[in-house]
Amino acid sequence: LSFDQMGLKDDLLRGIYNYGFEKPSAIQQRAVMPIINGRDVIAQAQSGTGKTSMIALTVCQVVDTASREVQALILSPTRELASQTEKVIRTIGDFMNMQAHACIGGKSVGEDIRKLENGVHVVSGTPGRVCDMIKRRTLRTRAIKLLILDESDEMLSRGFKDQIYDVYRHLPPELQVCLISATLPHEILEMTSKFMTDPIRILV
Ligand code: AMP
Repeated sequence: LSFDQMGLKDDLLRGIYNYGFEKPSAIQQRAVMPIINGRDVIAQAQSGTGKTSMIALTVCQVVDTASREVQALILSPTRELASQTEKVIRTIGDFMNMQAHACIGGKSVGEDIRKLENGVHVVSGTPGRVCDMIKRRTLRTRAIKLLILDESDEMLSRGFKDQIYDVYRHLPPELQVCLISATLPHEILEMTSKFMTDPIRILV
């Protein structure tokens, strides 16, 4: 499967090729189509497999940039990963006017408020700050249709479980969920059964 065969938006394909990618990595080959077709997906994958770009390109495909509401939310265990994902989204989505924002601890809350009130399509953040922004009603959740939990095992080992559940409770019921994790311990499987419907499992 090539990027051309994935039925992606023209402006997104331009962004992918401009970024220097020629063909999809294994996880991109297997996860992109199910996600853009609306399926819940559990991907067992490590970093270095192309998972960040997989997230970026699926998010760019499903978001409607004509609307100014947040439509996709990505949670990551660290500020660095959340920022990196936001950067890749902005780069790949450069030709489609994609507005992404990194909602992470350690940055000013005022900046988050300003950015979110201007309107963004995608938020990539750490569970604590995202939860905070939702509770302040600065991050409005009603148009969110895709939740991506990246490095889920790492989020749990950093003690983010309650915040992830808290965020999930604020999201619309018709939510598509994609979970990425290097390992699938009991607590992750418990999360998948609570958050996901008939998920496809991919091992790369
Ligand atoms: P990731 O696992 O997403 O952090 O990606 C690891 C590295 O592989 C990064 O430097 C990416 O830019 C690169 N990469 C991801 N997908 C592709 C692809 N389809 N073609 C070439 N390089 C890629």
